[in-house]
Amino acid sequence: MRHLLCVVSIVVLASLGVAQDAGNANPSAQQPKGPDAKYNLIPGFDATAMDKSADPCVDFYQYACGNFSKIHPTPSDAPEFDEFYNLMEYNTQVLHDILEQATSSRAPAGSNEQKIGDFYESCLDTAAIEKHGLEPIQAQLQQIAALKSKAELPQLAARLNRMGVGVFFDYSSMPDFKDATMEIAAIDQGGLGLPEKDFYLRTDAKSEELRKQYVAHVAKMLSLLGEAQDAAQADAQKIMDFETALAKGSLGVVERRDPEKDYHMMPLASFAATAPAIEAPKYIEWIGSPQVEKLNVVSPDFFPALNKAIDATDLPVLQAYMRVHLADSFASRLPHAFDDEHFDFYGRKLQGTPEQQARWKRCVESTDGSLGEALGQIYVQKYFTPDMKAETVQMVRDIEAAMGKDIDAIDWMSPETKVKAKEKLHAVANKIGYPNKWRDYSKLDIQPNDAFGNTMRAREFENAYQLNKIGKPVDRQEWEMTPPTVNAYYNPTENNINFPAGILQPAFYDKNASAATNYGHIGAIVGHELTHGFDDQGAKFDADGNLHNWWTAQDKKNFDEKTDCIANEYSQFTAVDDIKVNGRLTLGENTADNGGLRLALMALIAHQAEAAHGNASSEQNEEQSFTPQQQFFLGWAQNYCATQRPEFARMLARIDPHSPDHIRVTGVVVNMPDFAKAFSCKAGQPMAPAKACRVW
Ligand SMILES: [Zn+2]
Repeated sequence: MRHLLCVVSIVVLASLGVAQDAGNANPSAQQPKGPDAKYNLIPGFDATAMDKSADPCVDFYQYACGNFSKIHPTPSDAPEFDEFYNLMEYNTQVLHDILEQATSSRAPAGSNEQKIGDFYESCLDTAAIEKHGLEPIQAQLQQIAALKSKAELPQLAARLNRMGVGVFFDYSSMPDFKDATMEIAAIDQGGLGLPEKDFYLRTDAKSEELRKQYVAHVAKMLSLLGEAQDAAQADAQKIMDFETALAKGSLGVVERRDPEKDYHMMPLASFAATAPAIEAPKYIEWIGSPQVEKLNVVSPDFFPALNKAIDATDLPVLQAYMRVHLADSFASRLPHAFDDEHFDFYGRKLQGTPEQQARWKRCVESTDGSLGEALGQIYVQKYFTPDMKAETVQMVRDIEAAMGKDIDAIDWMSPETKVKAKEKLHAVANKIGYPNKWRDYSKLDIQPNDAFGNTMRAREFENAYQLNKIGKPVDRQEWEMTPPTVNAYYNPTENNINFPAGILQPAFYDKNASAATNYGHIGAIVGHELTHGFDDQGAKFDADGNLHNWWTAQDKKNFDEKTDCIANEYSQFTAVDDIKVNGRLTLGENTADNGGLRLALMALIAHQAEAAHGNASSEQNEEQSFTPQQQFFLGWAQNYCATQRPEFARMLARIDPHSPDHIRVTGVVVNMPDFAKAFSCKAGQPMAPAKACRVW
């Protein structure tokens, strides 16, 4: 249960980006890239993305990013494209090289190289996968078919959950919000096939249409599994009814951001009584968890709803439900008809992506997902240089110093709370690049020519690893992202910020760009993560990572007024078509974007005062035609130059705690008088409104 992690960019599984030759200055329209396209790094300062005919004071996103979608149209196999995607694709190519070497080197059995090589190679072998047909999931299908009564459900649910099949609910470990040094057991809502609760409940035409498509998908999966057409159709509708009942009992996306609504410690026996159908005490044993006397019931209303839904649904429907989730969960390791149907709904219908990613890319990504610290270890040895780390460490220190000054200067916080805020700031731990201590995969068996078995064992290994933490101290050295990941996060219960090696490259950090551009790019991302410690969610956790109020009542009231201003401001922005930004869902990210950019600017100014940084190379003339502050704001904006498919944009507007990319750019600059000054905007112009919001 790690959903409170504050990342800088949404994590999308069907990922792909497009490349633009770094030196191409001709912003004429390009053809979208296909699945095997090559990707190059985008420079930190990218003049080709700009639309200089636009007025920066009218629409800064258009000015900084107006040509981006012309030179980087969304690739045919991606739901969107931006600098994050581009770098992710670039890293995927690098990982691909590592994996190709690992497969040809025939490393000793049991070594990390053997494991990543065999995992990757077996994943690629679609002929073998095709030949095996449904045989790999035969045992599970038989167990499902053999159920004689609902009393046998919990044991089977435990078996499926252990394999990463998300039926009925979730059970895992998490840090105790009230004692962040310890790991506890957590039981949570789950069991849905659509992204979250409201996808089952909205009544607009597009939502109704998507539900019809989902029911058709479920029916198709059932018929691929051998069910007759009519029966499959009827079962699919009943599965929809069952999942809708679970959705109604679930917490929504906004509520789930509130740690107080996610924390309900209960004795196991009292919890078990709220949902007898899942036999919690025995389930915990069956899934292989250490015994517990109490646990966090993350979403307490869910379990009575689940219990009722199980009671009200016929056993054959629940069996069909488990079969569909099993097949969807392993679709990429089953014959192509399953894989294609899975993509058709989750890629094409839900996200608008026309084409499935190339198999090799999906296999690279899944090796990273299953053996991330084995693959990542080789990745950092080869590609992460000490200067990348040193520069980032320095920037993080500069930005932390800026936050200290910011806390000193703000006028709405009492000296008493300021002491606590600075205590928290000074306790923030910085993790940069990769873990000090690598995961041990020696107990994970990876075999050649066993795509399904490898994935299943990797999932069981991961599940056992997470459950084994229960009752033990939290390991703060552990990472929640793999080293090549193009993202970053703040962890509120550990009070640390984490920057994987994967993001510390162009465009985010570019040693050929000016300091100003880099402060706007990666510097603002560092500031973003640091500010998460002090957004509406992070501010509820103290220096030690405990959910514990450290604010005076008046200061908290002042803080809430400031964050309300941001929430109301963003709620007026349009995300896509008829959908407005959800100001409450995106409040933490918007606060972090606003605070992060201010801190980065303060740090840049301090940096400039300290030393005249040699930042101009002869090819950077265009960059140097802008003032450092303009470069800074352009660097910020270009973090979020993006192109998106409308279906994907609609989905994100419902579930993504980040605002849409263009809003991330304009929403912040309208709140910063420094921006208006840098571009000589007149008061009252769209990017220099009279009313501005500011928290940090
Ligand atoms: Zn964030």
